[in-house]
Amino acid sequence: METYFFTYTAAVSRIKTADCVILRVNRLGEINKSLTLFSRDFGLISAVAYGAWKGTGKLTGATDLLMLIKAFFYVDPVKDSWKLTDAQVKDDFSVLKTSLKAYYRASLCSEIIMRTHGGGDLGASLFELFIETLKELDTPDRDRLDYALIQFILRFIRMSGQMADPGTCQVCGRSLSPGASAVLDFHSAGFVCPVCSSLPGREGIPVSPGALRYLAFTEHVSFGESLRVSADIPGRAELLRLCLVLAETVVGGPLKAAEAVAGYGRERDRVDSFRTAGLEP
Ligand SMILES: [Zn+2]
Repeated sequence: METYFFTYTAAVSRIKTADCVILRVNRLGEINKSLTLFSRDFGLISAVAYGAWKGTGKLTGATDLLMLIKAFFYVDPVKDSWKLTDAQVKDDFSVLKTSLKAYYRASLCSEIIMRTHGGGDLGASLFELFIETLKELDTPDRDRLDYALIQFILRFIRMSGQMADPGTCQVCGRSLSPGASAVLDFHSAGFVCPVCSSLPGREGIPVSPGALRYLAFTEHVSFGESLRVSADIPGRAELLRLCLVLAETVVGGPLKAAEAVAGYGRERDRVDSFRTAGLEP
């Protein structure tokens, strides 16, 4: 009997089902797709969808970028290769795809997930955050897009335990007094008081008192609530720039999609030109 159960379990485990978002699609051969998917249960998955590049088959229409699907895989445990055998579209985020602005912001979230290998141990909680963000980006209300991205980045960094306390100077340990500004240090992604930020070798961007308040406040509310507090917060351009710098520090290098997110490319150029000239940014 034991042999029977063992064989049965092994056979069943070759079929896996998971909710996934499709992060990357490449052509493989003439008619196949090579996919990178982010799943709630298995993290990042590389899988092949045979025959999905062309034609009218079910997989063709269910394997586009940034689709949430219920995916069925056949897994070869010896080769550790995953084959997508069936897919049901749960959400295609069609509004998001009509706006380049929304699309770039979703791409940036995808890139962060891929660059951090699916967020390591974060697994399901990062998946839920990503779905929540995609739903917010899938809106005709263009004013909300930046805040959705800002909250994705801040929550991701907090979840992974890499968020510095916005109330304390990372260098001297003093409290950053309410109403005072600070500097976000490029190297440590920590906040530094004005005195410490003027020490030699420090590089960063200024953070206004309003931005520090926003960081502290949105830490304690839900994703949805944080999107409704935009009335008395500083300019979204400042927060966006701050979050992009934080994200690049945490992933350890430039993010491609950050260039496409408005204004950031120019900001980086400006910072670099300051450095070249030997000036503080
Ligand atoms: Zn200090």
